[in-house]
Amino acid sequence: MQFKRRKAKAAIGAMALALVLSACGGGSGTEGESDYPIADSPEFPSGSTPAKLAESGKITIGVKFDQPGLGFMPPGEDTPVGLDIEMGKIIAGQLGISPSDIQWKETVSDNREPFLQNEAVDIVIASYSITDERQQVVGQAGPYYVTGQQLLVREEDKESITGPDDLEGVKVCSVTGSTSIQTVTEEYGAEPVPFDTYSACVRQLQNGTVDAVTTDGAILLGYAAQSPDELEVVGPVFSEERYGVGYYKGDSQMCTFLTDTINQSFENGSWADAFEATLGESGIETPEPPKTDPCPQG
Ligand code: GLU
Repeated sequence: MQFKRRKAKAAIGAMALALVLSACGGGSGTEGESDYPIADSPEFPSGSTPAKLAESGKITIGVKFDQPGLGFMPPGEDTPVGLDIEMGKIIAGQLGISPSDIQWKETVSDNREPFLQNEAVDIVIASYSITDERQQVVGQAGPYYVTGQQLLVREEDKESITGPDDLEGVKVCSVTGSTSIQTVTEEYGAEPVPFDTYSACVRQLQNGTVDAVTTDGAILLGYAAQSPDELEVVGPVFSEERYGVGYYKGDSQMCTFLTDTINQSFENGSWADAFEATLGESGIETPEPPKTDPCPQG
């Protein structure tokens, strides 16, 4: 009897702990319930994009579906998970939109600008580095995370390919429209093998068609974590990738809203919760939040 009572107590303790964890964690809410604040009748300048989105009660967000830890659709499910997804929920929450009213639309690296230009999505949160070139055609608020390019190789090659200086003439897979493929080709003389997605590149690495995959460390660590005996992230970080939220070019009110929301998430702990529940699970320690860029004038 004594034993049974102790067991029951332990079970209740575990349940209470689980409840506390789910209440304060930034992880995926259940049944569209957000772990982040949802603003009650938020006010925005009349006619602005945030005002229109808040009024419609819906938002379409372009995200990756195949990048564990950042934007990933688990097989058989209909809601993606990852840091980019959590940022989307944080932003929607400040518009008064709950997670169940977010439409997640899959984007790949090469269609992020066109999706914004054609208004196929309202915003893009998809491991989307802020660059001058992209800002010619879209707006980018942030950064909300800074990472850098690295290499993923097969376990047996980790002594021969140890960094970007070993890439001369090596077949390296990366993704069309990414900063990664540009850097590795222009600066390190690799033989680029372009695909549409990083998951397709990882398959090429596993079947021996290429000898390395390159992109941001945060993305590669997610794939390595899925095949720890087979794949390894090697070498130094050789670029700086500052992830921003894409919006329509010239929409300065949207930029202000996004930047304020990102900064607020740094201050109120939502961002740290989101990080720990996602990239933190791939073994990345929560960094200091980055400093956001000022919004362009006009
Ligand atoms: N962050 C880089 C980029 O925006 C590489 C990752 C990606 O392709 O999404 O191009």
